[in-house]
Amino acid sequence: MIGSILTAAAGDIRPAGVTRRRPPVTAKPGRSLRVLLAEDSLLNQKLAIGLLTKWGHTVTVANNGLEAVSAVAQQTFDLVLMDIQMPEMNGFEATEVIRQQECQGGGHLPILALTARALKGDRERCLEAGMDGYVSKPIRQDELYQAILACCPPKA
Ligand code: MN
Repeated sequence: MIGSILTAAAGDIRPAGVTRRRPPVTAKPGRSLRVLLAEDSLLNQKLAIGLLTKWGHTVTVANNGLEAVSAVAQQTFDLVLMDIQMPEMNGFEATEVIRQQECQGGGHLPILALTARALKGDRERCLEAGMDGYVSKPIRQDELYQAILACCPPKA
């Protein structure tokens, strides 16, 4: 079921028998990203990992906000996909901790919120918490792709 939805939503389906000399510019992100996926739902983990690896990114999973904060402190990432509702520490709190640490250490790690609640105030709250963008769940391939592209544009 999930497979068929993804296939139907795929933007990179090529007509059979057509050989392209050059790949379309938008076929893949310009670089492979090290992505931290902070998400407590196994189903959403699988879905996101499938998409991210298909696009050539490497994925590290954190099962809650505490694990996310710990992972960011120990490893280098290009992007965080941050679920809002997680046990131990939620996505807003984890983002605030990461941003506080950046105040001391410098840098800015792009953080995209993943939230099941499509309430209007959520976007503002995500930005207030220091997040760079917002993707609503259930995750849609095109929306996630565009949000990642906006956060992590290909290097020239
Ligand atoms: Mn969750």
